Amino acid sequence: MAQQRGKQKTDKPQNIFNFDYSRDADGRPPQSYYDDIKQRFAEERDLRLSYRPPGTQLYTSDLDGDLARYAEDPYATERIERPPVHDEVEVLFIGGGFSALLTSARLRQKGVESIRIIERGADVGGTWYWNRYPGVACDVVSYDYLPLLDETGYVPSRHYATGDEIYEYCRMIAQKYELYDLAMFQTTVTSTIWDGEAEVWRIGTDRGDEITAQFVICANGTLAKPKLAVIEGMERFGGHSFHTSRWDYDYTGGDLENLADKRVGIIGTGATAVQAIPQLGEMSKELYVFQRTPSSIDIRDDWETDQEWAAKLEPGWQARRRERAMAGPRISDEQKARRAAMTREEKIRRQENANIDAMMRIHRRIDEVVEDRETAESLKPWYMLMCKRPCFHNDYLPTFNRPNVHLVDTKGKGITQITEQGPHFDGTQYELDLLIYATGFEVQQTGIYNRIVGENDLELNDKYSEGIRTLLGIHTAGYPNLFIMGGYQAFFAFNLTDVLNSQGEHIAECIDFVRRGGLQSMDCLPEAEEWWVQQVIANRGKTTRNRDCTPGYYNFEGAENRRQDGNFNGNIKQYLGFMSHARENMSQNFAFTQR
Ligand code: NDP
Repeated sequence: MAQQRGKQKTDKPQNIFNFDYSRDADGRPPQSYYDDIKQRFAEERDLRLSYRPPGTQLYTSDLDGDLARYAEDPYATERIERPPVHDEVEVLFIGGGFSALLTSARLRQKGVESIRIIERGADVGGTWYWNRYPGVACDVVSYDYLPLLDETGYVPSRHYATGDEIYEYCRMIAQKYELYDLAMFQTTVTSTIWDGEAEVWRIGTDRGDEITAQFVICANGTLAKPKLAVIEGMERFGGHSFHTSRWDYDYTGGDLENLADKRVGIIGTGATAVQAIPQLGEMSKELYVFQRTPSSIDIRDDWETDQEWAAKLEPGWQARRRERAMAGPRISDEQKARRAAMTREEKIRRQENANIDAMMRIHRRIDEVVEDRETAESLKPWYMLMCKRPCFHNDYLPTFNRPNVHLVDTKGKGITQITEQGPHFDGTQYELDLLIYATGFEVQQTGIYNRIVGENDLELNDKYSEGIRTLLGIHTAGYPNLFIMGGYQAFFAFNLTDVLNSQGEHIAECIDFVRRGGLQSMDCLPEAEEWWVQQVIANRGKTTRNRDCTPGYYNFEGAENRRQDGNFNGNIKQYLGFMSHARENMSQNFAFTQR
């Protein structure tokens, strides 16, 4: 339900987690109320953990053999046939999504001409190339999420841009910065090997290409590789099936019109499913939603961009807006003083109580919207806000009032068996024509799954087997002129563009430093790397949040993992500060070789 807004509320940066816990608890329920809810949160988490094999073993992203079809590209109109390429470029990107587009723009500004993107898809766009499921949109505010708005002069058409618009915008960026000239599509990088004598990277692909590059940037994306739940019998299903990131419009019809006589099932209720389910509910004969854990569904305050507001935007508006967002919410002196007077335990307790208040507001909305009591109860998330990715949608909850839409609540267990007819759960056989896997993506494996071999023939996966080691999540010692974007040990934000933007700027500055200095390579020093690993460790595990949360990809599906194998949990200001500091002290952080 998109709303046209009278007054454009565009200048306020999005902040989904801003609880004023400094307020006195007047009017709030007694602490026992919050303690009871926390107890329920713990029970629901334990229930889920009791069903699970450890960690991520309940998923597979090895989509080979019988599963290979789940990874095939349904969007490419033809397969480009071309002879293998043997040549040399200055900068090579593995992946053609936001990371590559953003960093390329910064490199062009520095005068870098030879830039090649190698991309598995048939065009640029990354996430926005692959995710074309019905209802796809970004629920990060478009004026923050779309990169390079100052540079391109583009103003998004809505507060929350649709997937189509973002994909087109990616293509526009690639055109503006002339990235199509050298790009290679429908091509997968299979090996990236450092040639220590020539001090260049040798890149091999599945098309037989052999390319030499001075700099390589792993821009493979944070959530790029589709994964499937491992379910007994899934290969026996006799109907049609696909993953949400490989939507088969030939089967469903462009507007899902072919589903009018179909029984459709969807496994998963994460951010993707939440956007697709309203349209599936409207168009399918019957829709079965197989839920393991409900998402938190908040209001989606969307509207068309006010053209008067857009016309008045002054150059540099997006950069200023982002600065305001990064500065965080303003805290009054009074609030600061009250917070300072609290013990750590008191602060945590108040933050948790405020979080529970927010979650109970989400519960109340479910009660108001969903008519059937049992369905409403099933849709209620029992965990702290932000344990899972929060979702925003106005049509998701009302969809469950449709007579043709059925919620199959597996109460934390998940679907564990599929027969030729469809999922089988709790004694009931669900007979389906179409089964859609909305089961997500491999998380932040950026740059480590396509055989990157650095100095001393050491493969990056092997180096990381003892724990991830990087400087800023971007550089890793023994891999000169290699830069990693969107990987672990970097800051992770709700608006991922903030992270990618800052990483892109940093990488462009580093490459510029090497070029201007007449240097050949830069490699992060082991002591700088060790310093960063310790920063990551020091900032993780300060709270019990990972352990307390219901399992999901935010907490490694509930698995205990090494403290360094995650993101940098300081704040973005600190992360940006560390980046600038590294660049201001190049010789303390990097070893350089001359051309
Ligand atoms: P997720 O990993 O978030 O969701 C996977 C879903 O599959 C979960 O609901 C999971 O349940 C469920 N599941 C897995 N196995 C089973 C099973 N056997 N039976 C039943 N359910 C099962 O993937 P998404 O594709 O939804 O989202 C991935 C990410 O992509 C988001 O978190 C977000 O970061 C991004 N995204 C962003 C959007 C935006 O607007 N900016 C829109 C869409 C996606 P459980 O929760 O119990 O594990």
